[in-house]
Amino acid sequence: MFVTPAATWRDDVKAGCWVAVVVFLAALLGIFTRPTDYLASLWPANALLVGLMVRNPRLATPLGWIGAVIGYVAADTITGGGLFKTVMLTGANLMGVSTGYLLYMRISNEHRRLRVPRSVLYLMLVSVASAAASGVGGAVVDLIFFHEGPFPAWTFWFMAELVSYVIILPVALSAPSWRQWRTLLNYLRGMSRPEQFVQQCAPVAAFILCCIAGVLIGGPGAVMFPVAALLWCALSYSLFTTTLMTLIFSSWTLLAISARYLTLSSIDLNLQPDMQSLRIGVLLLALSPLIVAIISSVRNELLRNVQYLASHDQLSGLLNRRAFNELAVERLKPLLEKDFFAVLMLDIDHFKKINDAWGHAGGDQVLVAFADIASSCLREGDVFGRIGGEEFAMVLPNCSLEEARGIAERIRQTYAATPIDIGEGRSVSSTVSIGGAVALPPEDLESLLLVADRSLYKAKHLGRDRVQLEEAL
Ligand code: GH3
Ligand code: MG
Ligand code: MG
Repeated sequence: MFVTPAATWRDDVKAGCWVAVVVFLAALLGIFTRPTDYLASLWPANALLVGLMVRNPRLATPLGWIGAVIGYVAADTITGGGLFKTVMLTGANLMGVSTGYLLYMRISNEHRRLRVPRSVLYLMLVSVASAAASGVGGAVVDLIFFHEGPFPAWTFWFMAELVSYVIILPVALSAPSWRQWRTLLNYLRGMSRPEQFVQQCAPVAAFILCCIAGVLIGGPGAVMFPVAALLWCALSYSLFTTTLMTLIFSSWTLLAISARYLTLSSIDLNLQPDMQSLRIGVLLLALSPLIVAIISSVRNELLRNVQYLASHDQLSGLLNRRAFNELAVERLKPLLEKDFFAVLMLDIDHFKKINDAWGHAGGDQVLVAFADIASSCLREGDVFGRIGGEEFAMVLPNCSLEEARGIAERIRQTYAATPIDIGEGRSVSSTVSIGGAVALPPEDLESLLLVADRSLYKAKHLGRDRVQLEEAL
């Protein structure tokens, strides 16, 4: 694709504006939610910016970084920050963000998307390094403006940043792409059955109830109340939903303690060590659901892969014999007594000769091409499987004898008329014989497959390259 320089420049400006708006809004959120005591202070802008740039490295252009500076400065200025101090604070923020971005870009994409348990280790390392870098900037700002001492200032920045990174960065890293959002919305729309809805909502409901119970019962154990529910969520929902809930849990815990909704009897929030200990506790607590959610998604993907391999033919990608039977029985269940259905058996003619002439690999390519051609002739809801070497079967629900003949003829003619490219400039043409039977429920699949097999035998006997159908009523 040819990209004009003007278009690239415009794209960069657009990316810069986009970054500026996100940083501006996140910084405003950080400023407005900053309470009088600093325990609940969460500064989402830095972690969000690292996540945004790691997910879309196209945003990390000079204009993208300038956009970030504008976002930070604008948010601070309109909320009354002096320009020099604002610029210094922005510098401290960017020290952390650039450290996080540069480190994450050296790590494989698998870890950037939190795909395996070890990704949590990388998340921690990047978060620690970014928070430490911000802390250095924060210590310099303190030296000029606050004079609390560089080490306490560094510790304060470091801890506040670390908590923000560990709970916000996973949300940004695991957020679905636009395409995945659409799939998710479709899934939610399709969740029509009430029991399905209740099942899906149970873990999040348990989580909310535990948070409320924590407030009502109080005491030192209250912080832990939602942990079991959160782990249940981690096992039930996607990684992204879990990271979002962990973010809510962690922010809620810090906020609830600082606002005295949750009372930890022995803790003194004015003491730095108590506050930092609480932050470390929340941070480590937040890691548990994250690890569980990653392990659960790895396991689910593995299961999906195993299920796919167990039900599909590796060569053609069609259903294997067992899965074909299962799905066909499933598709025939809802048919009424008056709904015809057809079963077709398809067998490539003289396939042995193709193997002999073009080798096993050539024969394999013919099988794959046949599967593609036949699939393209089917309707939505038809079931197609490879049940043996060069033998295939189909179940066509709601299909009369004439419709079945039409479909079978289309497959036969298209296949015969399509030379199959088997590489090195060679192509193979061959034919297929199709036998089939049409019946009304409750005719069972097994016996109809036998009738279709007999018809196939007849088609072979009559000279091959033909369709032989019969009514099994
Ligand atoms: P007919 O017209 O009577 O069906 O003759 P045919 O040669 O097609 O039938 P036959 O049953 O004699 O031969 C089928 C051949 O298919 C024999 C076997 O080696 C080959 N075959 C089975 N599975 C595969 C496969 O996965 N790949 C390839 N390339 N060949 C396979
Ligand atoms: Mg054959
Ligand atoms: Mg055969």
